[in-house]
Amino acid sequence: HSSLPNNNKQVDELLGGLLKEGLDEKSCRSRYESAWYHKGLKRQPSSHLISTLRSYEALHKRCGPYTESYNKTVGYLNSGEYNSSSNNITDCKYAVWTPQEGLGNRIMSLVSTFLYALLTKRVLLVDSRVHISDLFCEPFPESSWLVPSDFPLIDELWQFRKESSMSYGNLMRNHFMLSSNNGSWMIPYVYIHLVDNYNDEDKPFFCDDDQTVVQEIPWQILKSDEYFVPSFFLIPSFQQELDRLFPEKDTVFHLLGRYLIHPANTVWRAITRYYNAYLAGAHEKIGIQIRIFNKEPNPFVHYMDQIFTCVFKENVLPQISWTLKSLSGNSTNSTKAVLVTSLSSEYYKALKNMFDEHPTITGEIIQVYQPSHEGYQQYGNEIHDMKAWAEMYLLSLTDKMVTSSKSTFGYVAQSLGGMKPWILYRPEDYNAPNPACQRALSMEPCFHAPPGFDCNTNNPIDTGKVVPFVRHCEDMQWTWGLKLY
Ligand code: GDP
Repeated sequence: HSSLPNNNKQVDELLGGLLKEGLDEKSCRSRYESAWYHKGLKRQPSSHLISTLRSYEALHKRCGPYTESYNKTVGYLNSGEYNSSSNNITDCKYAVWTPQEGLGNRIMSLVSTFLYALLTKRVLLVDSRVHISDLFCEPFPESSWLVPSDFPLIDELWQFRKESSMSYGNLMRNHFMLSSNNGSWMIPYVYIHLVDNYNDEDKPFFCDDDQTVVQEIPWQILKSDEYFVPSFFLIPSFQQELDRLFPEKDTVFHLLGRYLIHPANTVWRAITRYYNAYLAGAHEKIGIQIRIFNKEPNPFVHYMDQIFTCVFKENVLPQISWTLKSLSGNSTNSTKAVLVTSLSSEYYKALKNMFDEHPTITGEIIQVYQPSHEGYQQYGNEIHDMKAWAEMYLLSLTDKMVTSSKSTFGYVAQSLGGMKPWILYRPEDYNAPNPACQRALSMEPCFHAPPGFDCNTNNPIDTGKVVPFVRHCEDMQWTWGLKLY
């Protein structure tokens, strides 16, 4: 490991038992090497989480593609029905994840679906169409998480929408009996639509009664662009298990993300090359993630004002001196590397010019870098996604982060890195927001579109006030986003 950073330190590659020993290192270098780049886990996994992950791995191996159980359960899809009374305890059930929206959104829903699989003892399989294996390593030992190409519903996976007749919401709306009167004959699969445009009929997925029904169905096809984990903490039948898995609630993504999503070797090479070339030598690494959503009309100068105001006021970067022309006599030899990520290069250029042209009042040297500026979002473009993933990961390796409101790109970075970022508020009314930014209170991502009703009464309620550790998010101007604290 002589070429790895921190090589003079003791590094716990297996992250306190979160990762299983003995997997092939060559096929997924990042699984073992990432501990050398990260600062270590922010919180340790509970022993119950560790044992649950080991049991999950055994389940996945027993039920993974082309096992006897998989073949049997696929048979229900071919025959179109499923007799739950002939079901035996060793039968397997599946949650099939399908992609939606940008890479950050996809990672949000992937981690959420994995937690759902852990809670309901289902096997997570992923739709491999959007080159998932170029982005992520296979996470589970001696088995694959990719939906095989001869899966009976393979050509339909991308077509499922909230209007689909097999969506849970539509089945409910049409009062479809999911099981026969004697409860034994059931539909073999259901499509679960948890995208932010979901209908009221889709939302009872987050209620106990509905969970009792959907959990019986052997195949669940899920699609979401959301981090829907916080709402699980409001489902009574999940609460006890969640308490045991995560005694510290604000660690869900940090721990499950570091367990599940490892950059594939090509992406990992890009990450480590960039890190070693530009970031490794700095005394402190600062990440600044600028995400401008399409409909924001504010001029560039407002954003730049906001960014400078935030980093100076919050002491993320030292003030510059307008009077000193050079560092002569004032230099501390201390360097800060600033990693800027954005689709555009103009923020990087403004930051770089500022720190190239003016010394800082502390004498620190500020070096500004940006790995790419892709111009616009390119859904489904493999190289584009690989760059985005590398940049999220590089951000997660910094010491402090400034992120943009409501961006799942930023959420991935902050949660993997275990950081509470300063969140740049979204500008409104053509004005630079005041204050420019606020420190997040938890490293968890925000569920942007949670359901907001009481499962028993069906009446609207403030779901941010039900339990103390599920509250509204800091980065949503309106109130219904939910986040774990
Ligand atoms: P969100 O839209 O900010 O929640 O994040 P997503 O990751 O879901 O979608 C935005 C997509 O735009 C990313 O996945 C990238 O494809 C692209 N993108 C946005 N910001 C950046 C950036 O800073 N760097 C790169 N390389 N791509 C970006």
